Amino acid sequence: MTRNEAVHSARERLVQAGIDSAVFDAAELCCYALGITKAELIADGRQDVPFPAKEALLALTNKRAAGYPLQYLLGEWEFYGRTFAVGEGVLIPRQDTETLCSQVISFVRDKEAAVLDLCSGSGCIAVTVSLECQNSRVYAVEKSEQAYPYLKRNIVQNHASVTAFLRDALDACTLELIPDCDVIVSNPPYLTDADMDMLQREVSYEPADALYGGEDGLAFYRELTALWKRKLKPGGRLFYELGVGQEQAVSEILQENGLKSVCETPDLCGIIRVISAGI
Ligand code: GLN
Repeated sequence: MTRNEAVHSARERLVQAGIDSAVFDAAELCCYALGITKAELIADGRQDVPFPAKEALLALTNKRAAGYPLQYLLGEWEFYGRTFAVGEGVLIPRQDTETLCSQVISFVRDKEAAVLDLCSGSGCIAVTVSLECQNSRVYAVEKSEQAYPYLKRNIVQNHASVTAFLRDALDACTLELIPDCDVIVSNPPYLTDADMDMLQREVSYEPADALYGGEDGLAFYRELTALWKRKLKPGGRLFYELGVGQEQAVSEILQENGLKSVCETPDLCGIIRVISAGI
């Protein structure tokens, strides 16, 4: 079987299984199984696929056809132009979250700012801000013992300077470990009960702890804001990623907590995805 034939049969299998991104996924899995790049796949499609790679590709394709996330199969995913290790137990970085990073980066720029990322997960926000804002000091808090090793690995792999804590951001004791900050940023769990009942097949493999934000999806906005606002330096700013349609409720939470100059930013799809407010 040639490389071209292998991609073709993987694609057919994924199309039959109803995978929307079948063309992309088949090529990615083929490259992964063969240990080659996309350029090599395209340039040399008539080369034979050796037996172990053929077996590996079959197993990967079957898992993907069952809805297992492509990102977990590949073990890494791209975010803001860098590669992040991912796997079961850690939320896969989403493109939506690049909007949150861009907002933080344009606020911090070259300032010597202390930046804190709460519910850090893979560390995609902390690592990105740390590398884009070279004068910043970045702290990351993550409570999950499954996610934390990915956070540590992503800091090292990307040569970022981030201080990571295996702690619960909702535990008041965690505040004592962190200095006052110019920026607090978080992509907290924000899905509602109703959202959790109709998760996309792929998302159901991701950690529920990283997705579920209480009955109305707002529990973390309430608790994080009430707890962490005292850690913001004068002139500091709090940035959150939002779920679809949460901007009004979260704006109220921010204002009830005495935060001012609320600013909302849409993502590339035009959905209000980021909210921020100052002290
Ligand atoms: N953006 C994720 C999703 O669409 C949710 C992540 C989160 O809750 N912060 O499933």
